[in-house]
Amino acid sequence: PVEFDGQVAIVTGGASGMGLAAAHALARRGAIVAVFDLAPPELGELAATLSVSIDRVRSVAVDVTDSDQVRAAFDTLLRQHSRLDILVNAAGIAPPTEFADITEDEWHRVLAVNVHGTFLCCKQALPAMRGRGRIVNFSSTAGKTISTAAGAHYTTAKHAVLGLTRHLAKTCGPDGITVNAVCPGLIDTPMARTLLPEGELARAVAAFPVPRIGQPWEVAELVAFLASERAAYITGAAIDINGGDLIV
Ligand code: NAD
Repeated sequence: PVEFDGQVAIVTGGASGMGLAAAHALARRGAIVAVFDLAPPELGELAATLSVSIDRVRSVAVDVTDSDQVRAAFDTLLRQHSRLDILVNAAGIAPPTEFADITEDEWHRVLAVNVHGTFLCCKQALPAMRGRGRIVNFSSTAGKTISTAAGAHYTTAKHAVLGLTRHLAKTCGPDGITVNAVCPGLIDTPMARTLLPEGELARAVAAFPVPRIGQPWEVAELVAFLASERAAYITGAAIDINGGDLIV
């Protein structure tokens, strides 16, 4: 339970869904966890949700697409703790827009949150990870094939996350930093519930080899493993966690 004792972690998109579950998995194993989110939870509430005291968590309002906000949030955290061990980039949006209806603004926003936000946070995190670090990015099955429910911008963004992950894995390996991506399938979060009506969701998961929806904690366990010492030899990987959805 104290695997991450003394370590500091940032989880973007940590107010909801898999980000929140990842924050929980890291906090439970002893990390101090900072949640960076557009809609950050109230600190006491977050500490209660993560079952830790309020001095073990931070809840910071950040739009990951805004470089000034990202820089300020990292600076404040690093002034307080003078170290960063783990970065989990879980912030994401997935509008279900048909290609013909995707406006330029929406295209840019989807790329901005999923890709540019990941870029900006990696940029701040890397110099702070001295001699050892773990970055876990959120791609998707949409990063391996195409998204069934979200639009072409989302598919494009999640493919791009894999490119960034692999490039950084290559360049940061010698600095003791691993960079990996998780590729979840259908996971029971507000995002998935908003994208798919109950009937469609039930039909989709019934066809999986593991015929059910995935739970956020299951992805969080994978994130915690990738963030741990036990995963020191895994880097540049894009790991599927989807109930076997991609088996043909
Ligand atoms: P969610 O909607 O429950 O949580 C996403 C969080 O990101 C929210 O708290 C939201 O406020 C935050 N966020 C959005 N835009 C932001 C911004 N600009 N700056 C800071 N925070 C922002 O979603 P989830 O399902 O938990 O998704 C987590 C990640 O997993 C996303 O990257 C998503 O694309 C990916 N994903 C989800 C599924 C799924 O089935 N739910 C499948 C594959 C991949």
